[in-house]
Amino acid sequence: MTASGAMPHPWIEAILRCPDCSSGLIAQPRGWRCSVCSWASQDPRDLQPQTPRELTLTHRRQAPAAPDQLLEALPTEPPPLTYAGPTALRDSSAFLSEMKQRLQPGATVLDLGCGPRDQQLPIESLGFRYLGVDVDSRAADLLVDAHCLPFQDQSFDAVLSYAVLEHLRDPFVALREITRVLRPGGLYLGTVSQGEPFHASYFHHTAWGLLALFSSQPELETLRLWAAIDTLESLARMGRYPKVIRKALAGLHRLQVDVPQLAPRKARWPRKALQIDALYRAGSIGFVARRG
Ligand SMILES: [Zn+2]
Repeated sequence: MTASGAMPHPWIEAILRCPDCSSGLIAQPRGWRCSVCSWASQDPRDLQPQTPRELTLTHRRQAPAAPDQLLEALPTEPPPLTYAGPTALRDSSAFLSEMKQRLQPGATVLDLGCGPRDQQLPIESLGFRYLGVDVDSRAADLLVDAHCLPFQDQSFDAVLSYAVLEHLRDPFVALREITRVLRPGGLYLGTVSQGEPFHASYFHHTAWGLLALFSSQPELETLRLWAAIDTLESLARMGRYPKVIRKALAGLHRLQVDVPQLAPRKARWPRKALQIDALYRAGSIGFVARRG
């Protein structure tokens, strides 16, 4: 959407704000400056904060409802796959299916932590406008910090964060920002690591952890959680074990999938119990939430 060093598209320029003080930005011959504080950038892609600031976060002492009961009440299977367009490097067909079903053509999608920006083509193929941001990626349209997004309130119809939450040093602050930039009815979708080993990451989330995190934003309603990959498979792919150990882990994963007779008790379990069981074992958890 933008070549490196070029000013962003007008629809993006219209929603930008200062990452330090939230005031409006003024375009410069090169980059931006804040209309109020001293923040300025010589690179039109760089919208990261420059001055440490204190912020106030409301912490609710009251625990959310029992997480096991919440899980029982939520859909815990992957969304029905209705998307059949171009594919991304990292498979996102579950999220594309949700967006296709729930968003209108022309909707704006923020890919927060876009990495190689591989979701642009599939998202644009659905008629949506795409903005890919990252803290450090040559492919990103803009460089931002998820803890202080340089966007005005209610700027996006959806935020996708694919394998991002575990890399944030304060997911509660970031989630407040994500909720803030979503329009009412907007979607927050993505995956988060649970059993994927440490990979330059801070907080890996269990299903209960995700429910607690999402409940910190009262406007945010969790629509669905599911096991996106099993931990044994994650360990085989990224466990930093010797190759022979990783092959053995992959074999154990196949055994666990292909030979359900290994756990005869579970043959009598209802589908819902098996889905929750898979969430307990998940290497990565997929989620869809909506701002009310
Ligand atoms: Zn400012």
